[in-house]
Amino acid sequence: MKQQFNRSDLKPGEVLCDHCTAKCCRYFALPMETPADWEDFDHIRWYMMHGNVSVFVDDGSWYLMVHADCKHLLPNNMCGAYETRPRICREYTTDECEFDNDVTHEQLFETPEQMWEYAHAVLPVRPRRTESDPVNLPVLNVVEV
Ligand code: SF4
Ligand code: SF4
Repeated sequence: MKQQFNRSDLKPGEVLCDHCTAKCCRYFALPMETPADWEDFDHIRWYMMHGNVSVFVDDGSWYLMVHADCKHLLPNNMCGAYETRPRICREYTTDECEFDNDVTHEQLFETPEQMWEYAHAVLPVRPRRTESDPVNLPVLNVVEV
């Protein structure tokens, strides 16, 4: 079995990226408002229904993460647009990159169902639309029963 390469194995003149599967080119994450009510969580649930989307929380801040390879990523994990790559790529360094981190977060939600279950755990009980309405559906128009 191939030995895993560690950051500390890097020899002078070597580039860490040459030993990586381009982890940083395969997703992006954006900060978002901390969800506070059913409507907020329902929006997030919708984002996640599109697939390849997860949500994580670090230091109390919420982020939407989209798992998608950059269109310029080459099969050999090199950048196919190196000369014209965006500024964010130019300024990114290997110093604290995700090469060897275990991607743990304070909280991580990988499916809309997990997100909705969490909403049920932290929000006050909400009314149902009808007597037969399952409680795991979002409220649209509240009907007295
Ligand atoms: S910056 Fe880090 S995560 Fe990105 S390709 Fe280089 S080693 Fe991999
Ligand atoms: S432009 Fe290049 S360095 Fe930037 S994300 Fe795409 S493949 Fe990676």
